[in-house]
Amino acid sequence: MRSGWLTMALLVTAVGLTPVGAGAVTQVLITVDVESYANGNPERQVWGRFAGEEYGITRIMDLLEARDFKGTFFVTPYEAAKHGEGAMAAAARAIHSRGHDLQLHTHPGPMYGISNLSQADLTRQTEILSQGMEMLERWTGKRAIAHRAGAYAADLNTLEACRRLGLVVDASLSPAAPNTKLAQQVAPTNFPLELNGVLELPVTYYVQAAVGGWRSLRIVDIEASTLKELRSIVRQARDQGLPMVNVMMHSFSFVRYGRVSHDVEQRFEDLMDFLAHEPGLEVVTVTDFYRTWQSGNVKNGGSANVVPYTGWWLTYLRAVEDIDKGNKNLFVALLPATLLLPMIAGVWWRRRRLRLGYG
Ligand SMILES: [Zn+2]
Repeated sequence: MRSGWLTMALLVTAVGLTPVGAGAVTQVLITVDVESYANGNPERQVWGRFAGEEYGITRIMDLLEARDFKGTFFVTPYEAAKHGEGAMAAAARAIHSRGHDLQLHTHPGPMYGISNLSQADLTRQTEILSQGMEMLERWTGKRAIAHRAGAYAADLNTLEACRRLGLVVDASLSPAAPNTKLAQQVAPTNFPLELNGVLELPVTYYVQAAVGGWRSLRIVDIEASTLKELRSIVRQARDQGLPMVNVMMHSFSFVRYGRVSHDVEQRFEDLMDFLAHEPGLEVVTVTDFYRTWQSGNVKNGGSANVVPYTGWWLTYLRAVEDIDKGNKNLFVALLPATLLLPMIAGVWWRRRRLRLGYG
């Protein structure tokens, strides 16, 4: 019943969500989920400490600041129940003290025993979010205004909990993750939209390949997309009127596989350089974007959804680039060869038949 009235409220408040005003630029948000995931270790997955160097949040902030950018860091404070308050508190303070946008990320597992926020009812979700905000505020003095659910596991109850607590922005909607509840409850879009009084900033998604009506969707993640794809997506978003691109990454994006991935780090640097020089773009934080939205001065791209398309060629190039990362990609990389062989065989067979006079 509760989801019934929430849906009603949603339909009511969703009317008129096309933004008015026409700011000139597409704003690009670099959003970093800060966590040491499942069985992790904050030293490795938050700070990225390897061989005396740091490849985690410090490195990410360094690379942003080198271009006068600021990022938005969604920190999950619930890991305090597992590792003690020290590690996550230090991370939250480092982010906030350097002027980056500290916000709330929810992996409630260590503190509440559920892996997905959407497993909890509205009352419980409100309690979880409230507790997380309280911890971040106690550690830094900063009261979060934005939220992203771990694994995008939000639902309409999450938005209601956000509204009640003053979390005016949510960034959990991930249309390329169709198994998450919110993606099932809200029509897929790359446009920011107001849902039940909360500004929803979807994680930008794109179509990597399409055959007939079938489309293969992918999120814009620094680890999951190549530089060529990222540049193409951002340019398409700008040219087709999207007011924002929400780029996703993790505190451990440069060290995900237990070693330093210099290629991912380089890709991030190259993307930052591209964003710094490409016209019509501006790198901002979630808080900055919220202010622009409130002022009514966001880029107005009309009402039809915009989904960048990268296509088979860029997908193929990614598979080649990632060839050492798994058999699936190896298969994709070898696909042209496996398609070519039967074609060559077919041509050979036909020539042979012609030569033998079968016609
Ligand atoms: Zn997460």
